[in-house]
Amino acid sequence: MKLAVIEGDGIGKEVIPAAVEVLDALCLDIEKVPFELGYGKWEKTGAAITDKDVRILKECDCVLFGAVTTPPDPDYKSVLLTIRKELDVYANIRPIKPLVGIKGLTGMTNFDFVIVRENTEGMYSGIEELHDDVSYTKRVITRKGSKRIAEYACKLAKQRQNRITIVHKSNVLRSDKLFLDTCRDVADFEGVTHNDMLVDSMAYSLITSPQKYDVVVTTNLFGDILSDMSAALVGSLGLAPSANIGEKYAFFEPVHGSAPDIAGKGIANPIAAILCVKMMMEWCEDTKSALIVEDAVNHVIKRGIMTPDIGGRSSTRDVGHAVAEYIRMRQ
Ligand code: ATP
Repeated sequence: MKLAVIEGDGIGKEVIPAAVEVLDALCLDIEKVPFELGYGKWEKTGAAITDKDVRILKECDCVLFGAVTTPPDPDYKSVLLTIRKELDVYANIRPIKPLVGIKGLTGMTNFDFVIVRENTEGMYSGIEELHDDVSYTKRVITRKGSKRIAEYACKLAKQRQNRITIVHKSNVLRSDKLFLDTCRDVADFEGVTHNDMLVDSMAYSLITSPQKYDVVVTTNLFGDILSDMSAALVGSLGLAPSANIGEKYAFFEPVHGSAPDIAGKGIANPIAAILCVKMMMEWCEDTKSALIVEDAVNHVIKRGIMTPDIGGRSSTRDVGHAVAEYIRMRQ
């Protein structure tokens, strides 16, 4: 397997090396292709991502990505949106599951659900008109886009509790009726139990009763907001991994950004990036490696080797070394 490794900017340069150390500890046959994208590249060359970068990415099977800082350039072409579109990674997957001994905002630890977010259309269609006194963004919902994300959610649900919750705002946004109806049709066809929630009630319910949910499927912007919000249930943005999956490629990135406020201090939590390695293993259907990574993370937390955001005093590097060391011992 060929893996593009992009540290990016800010704490991406700290958490990705820790994740790579963990990946190396698994001793798998993976060719790593490191390259630079983002603010640092933009400062040097005037472009955060080029057509050549996209070509190299397409020669790889998947991508491990840190974070990028947005350059102050009105013509800036988003690195993340470019990669998502070019690789057609249409399903954004964010597991929301507590880690042993870590309590999030609500103190609850009895939840385990996954948010499946449509990743290529909706409010991120890129179709915009900017004028002096009025601006427009076109929200695009297609049957094809809704069908394939619903099919992905159902496939995942069949490996879990065989039920999905469809999140929408079809009482106000007429475009969401197509999303809702398509998801219902797919779930019926696949034999997956389904219910639906309006996004505003869902925000409340995810915080007050997260244990009710298993697989949650929704459109692009709603998924973006609900998944960052749900990271608070787990404890820190530094604990939340994500995967972007398409037919051919996959792209793994921590939910957090480049965190300029703590960059360079060696205190960024690398667990989100390390759990991206776990998700990569699941994508490769290497369940054994995925379980070892999760087990190693929980073991290291139990030993109190944690960064300050979750109450510890260890450095990014210490946490990465400890997780990798545990895996090496188990191999
Ligand atoms: P960007 O502009 O790149 O999105 P940001 O600072 O606006 O960066 P995040 O990087 O997501 O957004 O950070 C939000 C907050 O969470 C910051 O205070 C940051 O320090 C904290 N944070 C994010 N990631 C981590 C991490 N891995 N470990 C510890 N704290 C983190």
